[in-house]
Amino acid sequence: MRPIYLDNNATTRVDPEVVQAMLPFFTDHFGNPSSMHGFGASVGAAVKEARRQVQALIGAEYDHEIAFTSGGTESDNTAILSALEVMPRRTEIVTSAVEHPAVLTLCAHLEKTRGVKVHRIPVDSQGRLDLDAYRAALTPHVAIVSIMWANNETGTIFPVVELAELAKEVGALFHTDAVQAAGKLPMDLKSTAIDMLSLSGHKLHGPKGIGALYVRRGVRFRSLIKGGYQERDRRAGTENTPGIVGFGKAAELALNFMDDENTRVKALRDRLEKGLLQRIPNAFVTGDSLERLPNTANIAFDICEGEGMRLLLHREGIACSSGSACSSGSLEPSHVLRAMNIPYTAARGAIRFSFSRDNGEEDVDRVLEVIPGIVEKLRALSPFGTGGRSAEELRSGLGPRGRRADSRS
Ligand SMILES: *Cc1c(COP(=O)(O)O)cnc(C)c1O
Repeated sequence: MRPIYLDNNATTRVDPEVVQAMLPFFTDHFGNPSSMHGFGASVGAAVKEARRQVQALIGAEYDHEIAFTSGGTESDNTAILSALEVMPRRTEIVTSAVEHPAVLTLCAHLEKTRGVKVHRIPVDSQGRLDLDAYRAALTPHVAIVSIMWANNETGTIFPVVELAELAKEVGALFHTDAVQAAGKLPMDLKSTAIDMLSLSGHKLHGPKGIGALYVRRGVRFRSLIKGGYQERDRRAGTENTPGIVGFGKAAELALNFMDDENTRVKALRDRLEKGLLQRIPNAFVTGDSLERLPNTANIAFDICEGEGMRLLLHREGIACSSGSACSSGSLEPSHVLRAMNIPYTAARGAIRFSFSRDNGEEDVDRVLEVIPGIVEKLRALSPFGTGGRSAEELRSGLGPRGRRADSRS
């Protein structure tokens, strides 16, 4: 049985063309790009080419606005810490309640250790940002706003272009974690007010351990890693040249595949969602029904254990992820689903299927074939009963008797 990989928001398969592009940089072109001899020169040219490929993917005005890092996490950390350092009199951060841990864990740490005030803007039941709360949090005390371009769990897209304009009005820097959006949504950074943007190689069929931080020309900046003067003094350490070349190639391919992503891949995703909702009662799609990544389907099956579902799918050779994180022995719904106030019994039954250009029709057929049996089996075992509530009741966050369904105990 051919395994089916539907967890592309966690990581992607490196494109064979990317591997081919990288290989010479381990052997023939192993030089240090900073070296002033022939061995370094050819490598320097390849790094420059990679920078141009990433520039093209995000529509940056200059290639030197891109600094290579070790990945999305480092880029997010660097952006936020840099802003606090260049604006020492501003001590507040505005972010959302549904960011990746690369942002949220850092913010919690800064709150605890440096007394930074963090505004975590709430979202509604479809994962959309509360714009009134956002506007209210924006004051001249804010050093940086960090809001993701698209959410990794639900695929909900945030209006970052508009959010950046609002941040400008109070003189705050605007950073966006675009790790999930890159290669899926068109970007033209030069026409926006976005100051910094994070990317990661392994989410777009590039290698792991490589990413980039876009820093708009003229934005004041302090590097996180201190050392040599690589990357125009924005990221010390000898360049990961095979990774950089691979990431560049992956960025080029992502741009070429963007149409495929938004037509064929989106159609696969839509067919899976429609098929599941037709076959399984009391299930619904989480996230914004309109503004959503084309590859992501996060579906909540009421009264059905998500981790159990994931395991049984795994046994069928299907890889996906559940919306629960195992912490202290109990399965709690993720911070994203909790922030959306999705009723507890439905959030526990959330499964994320994330597609890529590697998927085909047969993958959707297979999931649709096996899932009804799995859900039926788990619902029969559920301590919450076998009924479940209708999608309308669940979406509105209200139980059958008008009680808030997420209030347990
Ligand atoms: C995967 C991911 C990251 C982390 O990127 P790494 O390169 O794995 O460090 C950050 N933000 C989002 C939204 C992600 O999906």
